[in-house]
Formats: sequence, structure tokens, C-alpha cells
Amino acid sequence: MTGDTGRVLKQVFGFDSFRPNQEEIVQAILDRRDAFVVMPTGGGKSLCYQLPAHIMSGTCMVISPLISLMKDQVDAATATGLRAAYLNSALSSSDRVAVQRALMQGELDLIYVSPERFAMEEFIDVLAHVDLAFTAIDEAHCISEWGHDFRPDYLNLATLTKRFPDVPVAAFTATATHRVQEDIVTRLGLRSPHVVRASFNRPNLFYKVVPKQKGLKQILRFVKDHAGESGIVYRTTRNSVEETAAMLEQAGVKALPYHAGLDAGTRAANQDAFNRDEVDVIVATIAFGMGIDKSNVRYVLHGDLPKNIESYYQETGRAGRDGEPAQLLLLFGYADIPKIRFFIDQIPDADEQRHALKCLNDMVGLATVHACRRKVLLGYFGESYPEPNCGGCDICAGEVERVDATRDAQMILSAIARTGERFGMMHVVDVVTGADTERMRQLGHDRIKTYGVGKDREKRYWRFLLDNLLAQGVVEQTEGKYPVVQLQPPAREVLFGDRQVHVLRTRKSAPKRKKSAATGVEAYDEALFDELRALRRRLAAARRLPPYVIFSDRTLHEMARRYPVTPAQMLRITGVGDAKLERYGKPFMEAIAEFQKEGAAQA
Ligand code: ADP
Ligand code: MG
Ligand code: ZN
Repeated sequence: MTGDTGRVLKQVFGFDSFRPNQEEIVQAILDRRDAFVVMPTGGGKSLCYQLPAHIMSGTCMVISPLISLMKDQVDAATATGLRAAYLNSALSSSDRVAVQRALMQGELDLIYVSPERFAMEEFIDVLAHVDLAFTAIDEAHCISEWGHDFRPDYLNLATLTKRFPDVPVAAFTATATHRVQEDIVTRLGLRSPHVVRASFNRPNLFYKVVPKQKGLKQILRFVKDHAGESGIVYRTTRNSVEETAAMLEQAGVKALPYHAGLDAGTRAANQDAFNRDEVDVIVATIAFGMGIDKSNVRYVLHGDLPKNIESYYQETGRAGRDGEPAQLLLLFGYADIPKIRFFIDQIPDADEQRHALKCLNDMVGLATVHACRRKVLLGYFGESYPEPNCGGCDICAGEVERVDATRDAQMILSAIARTGERFGMMHVVDVVTGADTERMRQLGHDRIKTYGVGKDREKRYWRFLLDNLLAQGVVEQTEGKYPVVQLQPPAREVLFGDRQVHVLRTRKSAPKRKKSAATGVEAYDEALFDELRALRRRLAAARRLPPYVIFSDRTLHEMARRYPVTPAQMLRITGVGDAKLERYGKPFMEAIAEFQKEGAAQA
């Protein structure tokens, strides 16, 4: 680590070391080169431009797509001791004038602007009087129509290198595909940029998939297991978002909904409440996510199947930005597949339709393979994960086992064959479990050989097995209002004993999860952490800031482990730099000292 950047990293940001790739990006910017950076969410992109902005003379202009995000980013930068401000339509005209004056007088390290602002001639005139060190484009994928968040306003950024040929440009994105990457570099006209493509691995995230059975109950149980932690629950439809949020609320969990059907005011208020830790859970459609930088999201639960791996990665990526462990849970039910297929069927372009279908199949693959989820996920982005066991997914942690279900499959396939392939799933399950109903007797299905052979197992199990046979192409379900299950060629092989059927299931006594490097938080004093968190929330509320802007969860965990009570001790904590020590150090040191005194009194 070179002296200067290393010193600033510690003194200003309070960090001991750079995260992977940060140092070389900082160096490229200091060398006044264009840069193009793909780094996952939580990888620490902001520091890559904030640190050089602090060191270099002149101002760094940051293009950022969302007004809501801009304020939080400026608050966070200011709390770190950087001289930062933003210009957007939300500012009053007197504030705008003040910011523009500060900008022109060279009093700012960072000026955050929206792409719309950059399109205004009036603002370009202001910029002519500004000493620009470099431009940083955050969420640069918004310029690409191939990306998921295309914003027409971003297209105007193509003029940046023409209007300001002497100002280097650094573009940042978390979008992984190569197609988008090439598109961004071309459109922005970057000049032989220093390109960094970081690993997409998020070592602190734990991936887990369980069969969806009773969706709402499963969601509630998981959320209760993580009481007091911040989490996002994704659902596909507005109705299911409302239903889930209401269910959680009823069960005493502080939760709010978020979807495109709510008016803008409600959406902003709900997002804000989540951002400020006033509610623990936000239940949302995919409309939610881009507008937040909240670093202490401790879990992301998918109540429904995402439509592709790209979305799953983006949405799960919102967990654990602070680097502390976070849990991801996907409830996977085969019944979700036809719902997504329905939408895919509406796509007019045949090529795109095929592509969407392949993406869906890849996602189903990720949810059903008996192989490391992390390996499959990274493999999808063209990255190979070297370790045999990642220690951070349900498969590697041994929570899931692969069992031979050939005999059971034979029973159920035989029931389908003997009833003429003319019945739906539930009826087939009823045959196998020997349902004692009038309908069974009328059809004579109570007299076939497989009637009741599976009554020692729950209906749910047989349904699960049928789902698996569907996914493996052993049976198929017809379209239409009353879908019936039919045998496919592999079914013969199974029936004749030439093919085995395996299913994944959660181990009865799941081994206690080892606290591995990938997933375990080092032990800390939980009672103290709770107090510090409450203190953080109070200070944040008084200053109208999101709590994580004051200190991240990681920083509080470390305080609750090392009990810093002097400024020197405080500065050794990750995330405490000079400015934060001065601004917030005192109340935290006092709270820790007080906590220790009480502990001593009780002992
Ligand atoms: P991104 O924009 O890439 O999603 P952020 O810039 O928001 O990520 O950073 C995510 C989190 O990582 C923030 O809480 C930030 O303070 C923290 N962080 C960044 N760099 C470091 C570092 N070198 N050491 C420790 N924490 C870091
Ligand atoms: Mg960012
Ligand atoms: Zn794994």
C-alpha cells in the first residue's frame, strides 16, 4: 500500500486495508486515466472515487441516477469528513445557488449530480468555471439498453468526453454481463480505460434453497428467526406483497410493502422507514432495490422464483454490503415455473423468448442442482470458483442431501399409467395415498394396484416427488384449465428399472452450521451491540440520517467485541476515521464505559 493512499484510507475512512481491486482503481484515477469498473454490490465502489477525490486538487463530479440515493450518499460522504454536496431538482433555489458557489470556488471534493442536470446548458456553463479533477459515473449500466435499468437520460453522458476532453472518466457498475460492459465502454467513449472486472463472489453471503410448501408460514418462521434484523422479502406480485406484509404485521413484525402500485409518496416513505431502521422488513416486488445503499441488510428472502439468475444475483446482492454475514433464502416451488412461462409466452420476439426461457431454466437449475450454489452462480457469470467446498451454501454446509427416490417414483408413475394419464396431480397423489373418497370409488381407482401404496407418507411428499419428476422431464403436465399429468419417454426407463430418480431434501438433523470464514460473525457482546444500535438509531433520527451512515453494523460489531473507551482505541475500529471519531466518538465511548460499569456492578 503506498503511503499516501494507505494513510488516507485509515485516517479518513477508518479502514485498515483496501478491498480487492480498490487500490489499483484508486491508482488509475490518481494517474488521470479513464477507468471502467465492474464490481459487485457491496464491493466498495464509492471509496474508489471518494478517496482520490479527497487527495486530488479540484472536484470530482459524480453522476448518480437517483435523487433519493444522492442525498444518502452525500450524507455518508459528509459523515466521513469529505466535502460533498449534490445538485438536483429537489434543492431549493437558494440552496442550489449556495452549492454552485461552493463548487465554483473549489470548496468541494465531490459534487453529485443527476444525468438530467448534466444535460442542462446552464449547468454546463457553471462547470466551465469549475476545476474538475475527474468524473465518476455510478450505476453506469443505466446507459445500456441491454441493462435492466436503462435510463434515456444517461445517453447524454456520451457527450462527456467530447465536452471535457481533459477530464478523466471513471465508470462503475455492478452489472455482470459482458454485453452490457462493452456497450457502456463504447457509448461513453472511454479512452483506453483501465478495466477492472472484480470477482462476483460475495463471500459473506450464505445461499440456501428450500422447497416452498406453505409459503407464508415459511416466510414468517424465517423472519421471526431473524427478529430485529433488517431484511428484504421479495415477492412477484403486488397482491402477494400486500398479503405478506399484512401477515407479518399481524404477527407483530414491523414490515412495510413496496411495489409499483403504491403512489410515489408511499413508496418513498416506506423505503425511508426501512432505510432508517424504523421497520425491520420491507416486502417488495423487484421494483425495490436500486434506490438504496443500506449496508446492514442481514437477509434477503425470495418467496417466489426469480425469473433469471441475473435478477436473483442483483436482489440477493443487496444483503450484507457491510461485509458482515447475511443469509439468503429462496423458497422454491415448481408451481412458480408456469407463472413465469406465462409471461415468457407473451414475448413477441422469438429469439428473446428463447433467451428468456433459457434464463429461466438456468435459474431452476441453480435452485435444484446438488452442487455448490456459489459455484453455479459464479459459473453463470463465467467465473470459476476454485474451492471444493465454499462453506457458504446449504449444499456445502451439508444441510441438503441427495436421496434415491426410484422406488417411490415407480409407484407414482405406475399410478399415472394405470389411471390412463387422464388425471391431474392431486388426483394421482390421492390414488397413491389411498384417499377414501366417493370419487375414487366411482372411478374404480380404489381397485388399482397402486391404490394406497404410499399412505405411510404425507401427501406433501408425493406432490414434491411429482414436482421433481416434472422438473426432470419424466412426466409432463398438459396446458389448459384442467392440466393432466402424462408420462414421457424417461418414465418407461424408470418403470423398468433402467433409470434412477434422485431428489434433494433437507437433512432431518441438519448439522449445526460451522462458523466458517464465509458465514460466521466473530462472537461479540450482543447486549452491548443492541445498546449501541439503539444509540445509533437515536443519533441518526436526531440528524435525519440513515443509521448506517453513522456507523455500519460491522463497526458496531467490532466495538461490541473490543470495548473501545479512548479515542486511540476508537480509531483502531474499522470504519472509524478522524471525522467520525470527532462527530460520534464521544457518545459511543460513553455508552461502552457505562455498559462496562453496569456489568462490573452486577458481577
Ligand atoms: P458498492 O457501491 O460497491 O455497492 P459501497 O461503496 O456502498 O459499495 O460500499 C459498501 C460497504 O463497504 C460500505 O459500508 C463501505 O463503507 C464498506 N467499505 C468500502 N471499502 C472498504 C474497505 N476497504 N474496508 C472496509 N469496508 C469498506
Ligand atoms: Mg454504490
Ligand atoms: Zn457452496
